[in-house]
Amino acid sequence: MLVLGIETSCDETAAAVVEADPTPGTPVGRIRANAIYAQLSEHRPFGGVVPEIAARAHLERIDGMVARALADAGVGFADLDGVAATAGPGLIGGVIVGVMTAKAIALAHDKPFLAVNHLEGHALTTRLVEPVAFPFLLLLVSGGHCQLLAVQGVGRYRRLGTTIDDAVGEAFDKTAKLLGLGFPGGPAVERAARDGDPAKFDLPRPLWRKPGCDFSFSGLKTAVRLAAAGLPKDDPRAIADLAASFQRTVGDILVDRCRHAFDMFRTTCGLPPDTPVPLVVAGGVAANQHLRARLADVAASCGARLVAPPPALCTDNAAMIAWAGIERLRLGLVDGLDVAPRPRWPLDPAATAAIGRTG
Ligand code: ATP
Ligand code: MG
Ligand code: FE
Repeated sequence: MLVLGIETSCDETAAAVVEADPTPGTPVGRIRANAIYAQLSEHRPFGGVVPEIAARAHLERIDGMVARALADAGVGFADLDGVAATAGPGLIGGVIVGVMTAKAIALAHDKPFLAVNHLEGHALTTRLVEPVAFPFLLLLVSGGHCQLLAVQGVGRYRRLGTTIDDAVGEAFDKTAKLLGLGFPGGPAVERAARDGDPAKFDLPRPLWRKPGCDFSFSGLKTAVRLAAAGLPKDDPRAIADLAASFQRTVGDILVDRCRHAFDMFRTTCGLPPDTPVPLVVAGGVAANQHLRARLADVAASCGARLVAPPPALCTDNAAMIAWAGIERLRLGLVDGLDVAPRPRWPLDPAATAAIGRTG
């Protein structure tokens, strides 16, 4: 089974072709092509993603990226079994471009259309490369989200905890800006932190050791801003120390929240207390090597194991959208061409009910 995936929800214009066994539940696919255009030069002058510029860049590039993905895979439209696109959540101008492109291809070539939730793309990525069975505990850490979820199956998510203010990727991006490390922020902070002393700055860990597994990063962000304002000018050593201290503090927060989540996860899924649980980490921040090592440690100390996609599949890409499309297509979860793109689209049903189907 071959599916074309399209991703345009933020600043990556991406198209991919993924192949898999058509039997539902058979994990692990094969990436035949994974074409990405990261709109770095378009947004760098502004120090962040500008939605209007992103939408225009998607429109200019998407046809070329689809053509490149098909050529790299050595297939044509006629060979496809489905066309999947991110239908939300994300910057709506970009999401519209991807959805309209996928619908046009599906209609013209009489193929099933799959409207994929971008977060489900992140959530299922690991099954594209490793046979991880449901249920698993998911830590989703990305540019717009920070959540712990019980993943019980395709389309079946229970939220255990979420950030009450900022996303963790946003905190990395803000920290990079404050330290003058440039755009995109996450990888720049990780690079700077390599030469720094992680114990140099004592930064706050909001909700640390509090019950539950919600997150908060706004206090940490403020503390980094105050510390950055007091740094000697253009001192790479001091910048490295603050980057390392920030990264270590994020690690402390994620570890503490995951520790709480294991028991909540076992209760939610009706599993006995000591059941070994896979902890899957996904989203752009999951590319961070320091955080991966910290999460592997906490998983091991809680009788669990960490499963993480390769870093290049953690940040936005279209292979994850094609794969989520395959998981849905195999279950017959095909969408009509009347499905509307959504700027907001939570994974868990409780939150979906709260904002309404079109929210
Ligand atoms: P969402 O998936 O929530 O809609 P998004 O698609 O914009 O948001 P992703 O592409 O999944 O986000 O992740 C991008 C985020 O990941 C950015 O905030 C970026 O700084 C962060 N990030 C990327 N690489 C790293 C890294 N090595 N260390 C820390 N953060 C990173
Ligand atoms: Mg991006
Ligand atoms: Fe993302």
